[in-house]
Amino acid sequence: MPRVLDGAAIATAIKQEVADEVKKLAAQGIRPGLAAVLVGHEPASEIYVRSKVQTCAELGLFSDLITPPDTVTTEEMFDLVNSLNTRDDIDGILIQLPLPAQVDAKFLLDSVLPEKDVDGFHPVNAGRLQAGRPALAPCTPAGVIQILRRSQIPIAGKHAVVVGRSDIVGKPVAMLLLHENATVTICHSKTQNLGEVTRQADILVAAIGRPGFIMPEMVKPGATLIDVGINRISTREQFDRFFKGNEKREAAFLKRGSVIVGDIDPAAFELSSAYTPVPGGVGLLTIAMLMSNTVRAAKMRRGI
Ligand code: NAP
Repeated sequence: MPRVLDGAAIATAIKQEVADEVKKLAAQGIRPGLAAVLVGHEPASEIYVRSKVQTCAELGLFSDLITPPDTVTTEEMFDLVNSLNTRDDIDGILIQLPLPAQVDAKFLLDSVLPEKDVDGFHPVNAGRLQAGRPALAPCTPAGVIQILRRSQIPIAGKHAVVVGRSDIVGKPVAMLLLHENATVTICHSKTQNLGEVTRQADILVAAIGRPGFIMPEMVKPGATLIDVGINRISTREQFDRFFKGNEKREAAFLKRGSVIVGDIDPAAFELSSAYTPVPGGVGLLTIAMLMSNTVRAAKMRRGI
């Protein structure tokens, strides 16, 4: 039977460690602070940001939710970021994506002070990560490493195959796995004979954004499968492909009209030695790592 890598338990442990650290800092008169900038009223973004702000409160961090209207300009956002860069009560700045089309998102992310870039998206942090220097690493990739480490899954010397090369998931997760001494292969949409490559993986990380894209025949039996994908499926045909006969999911599908599936076909999990479920796996680590990064930023900024 494959082992289910329980993202909830690992996220809870990390959050507890963060809360303990926040208490220690409080004794020195320091309260780590996160500014969350949410533009407009995109429902998914509102849910994510609300949950980030709520987690700050649970763990004892200060948070400031700033909600510019969706007519905001790049210049206005730039002024806002600059003011957050200089505020002493703010250690981390989070700009929830996506931003409205008229706003230059790259320019804004680059204007966040690297020391306050708790999402780890700034080119300076990407460079530091690559160079193996202390850096704020992107939250989801950092969460992947936490899942592997805390589940005692050996990484050093293993062949890790990452499918996806985005700046926010694929590339940084590959870099972090390399720092953990894995032999790393990165695949993308132009990779030829993808299944041949993924079948060599001891650790297979899927960050593609396509429902159930990694099929059982693309997986080496006994591999560890890390599924970063979050895809909403809403047709009966798609549902039946992945979850036919699964009563719990069926009930959720009928109630909400959709369910979430990862980038790995759940049938492939059966072949693995361990896997992260979707939902309940990697996704839960992202906010925990954001909290951890904010505390880290607060300490680094004060030379602690
Ligand atoms: P992205 O920016 O769209 O990147 C997708 C990557 O997959 C690209 O590198 C692309 O290759 C590759 N790809 C697409 N089709 C492919 C194919 N047919 N064969 C091989 N590679 C293919 O997506 P992302 O932001 O990295 O996110 C990936 C997934 O992770 C999404 O489902 C997203 O929702 C999820 N996600 C989850 C979390 C979380 O758990 N909290 C956080 C972030 C993202 P090219 O570069 O060649 O186009």
